[in-house]
Amino acid sequence: MFDLIIIGGGPAGTAASVYAARKRINTLHITREFGGQSVVSLDIQNWIGTPHISGADLAKSFEQHVTEYADDIVTLKTGALATNIAHAENGFSVSTDDGEAHTAKTVLITTGADRRKLTVPGADTFEHKGVVYCASCDGPLFAGMDTIVIGGGNAGFETAAQLLAYAKSVTLLQHNDSFKADAITVESVLKDPNMTALKNAKITKVLGVAMVTGIEYEDVTNGEIKTLPAGGVFVEIGMLPNTALAEGVVEMDEIKRIKVDAKNQRTSVPGIWAAGDCTDELYHQNNIAAGDGVKALEDIYVYLKTR
Ligand SMILES: Cc1cc2nc3c(=O)[nH]c(=O)nc-3n(C[C@H](O)[C@H](O)[C@H](O)COP(=O)(O)OP(=O)(O)OC[C@H]3O[C@@H](n4cnc5c(N)ncnc54)[C@H](O)[C@@H]3O)c2cc1C
Repeated sequence: MFDLIIIGGGPAGTAASVYAARKRINTLHITREFGGQSVVSLDIQNWIGTPHISGADLAKSFEQHVTEYADDIVTLKTGALATNIAHAENGFSVSTDDGEAHTAKTVLITTGADRRKLTVPGADTFEHKGVVYCASCDGPLFAGMDTIVIGGGNAGFETAAQLLAYAKSVTLLQHNDSFKADAITVESVLKDPNMTALKNAKITKVLGVAMVTGIEYEDVTNGEIKTLPAGGVFVEIGMLPNTALAEGVVEMDEIKRIKVDAKNQRTSVPGIWAAGDCTDELYHQNNIAAGDGVKALEDIYVYLKTR
């Protein structure tokens, strides 16, 4: 039986694994691969201490950091998916997609999330060629351009607010007749003269040549198709947390994010922690996920020592 099983190899799981090794906690680290969501980025500019790093290099550095400290204390199981977590005698059992089951006194879930993707024609073709999913990551690349935000929830309006610092204009599209964002947020963002928000505007196509040049959308009140030129399309239509493996085990919110205590990353079940984008935290960044992983590990260490 391990002391700890960490699931996931994004910034949250990697940070936790490095701390587990250094604290000499007998750990099994299961991950499909290292890197996490920003592995597709060509240039990550806000990983603290590193002005520029590609997602691919970030992933390599994560694996290298864990491997260098793993010693005989962290056992790595890569290329594997954890499929289920269950209670077991003195702890928990984690099943993997190769048919194995592993037991540990504690579990840390850092399985992250996938962004809900646009499914209209052109969205796939121009992904990372102007269709992007993270304003604080990619916003500066669109300085001086006309930009579009898809989605009128809080994430959409917060994205618009961030873009207004660099972009020439921001046009936000909401597919029905009401914004889901808090009224106060909507009001303050709409005060900016470079901001426009359209209701009943449903994107139907992403346009482009080598890069995005704009979109087509339908005015759903009359079916009219209109064109909007833009260099960047920021998609904020929700996240899909990778939490199926813990369903029915730990408490989750209405969109299946694991509820945690932000002070220590504890879930509703003593002995199970969660960190990063699979949780109900507010902000989604590599540095934040790594910090959450560290916080969880500090708390797991105390738990194991005082158990
Ligand atoms: C396109 C894009 C670009 C981004 N760019 C930036 C940026 O420039 N700067 C920034 O700070 N943030 C950026 N972000 C946000 C940032 O990537 C996330 O906030 C961060 O990756 C969350 O880390 P995490 O460890 O919680 O989860 P994730 O990064 O989602 O990692 C989850 C890990 O768990 C593994 N996994 C999932 N399910 C299982 C399972 N069942 N079994 C085993 N392993 C599993 C995955 O393989 C992965 O290794 C970007 C996000 C996107 C989508």
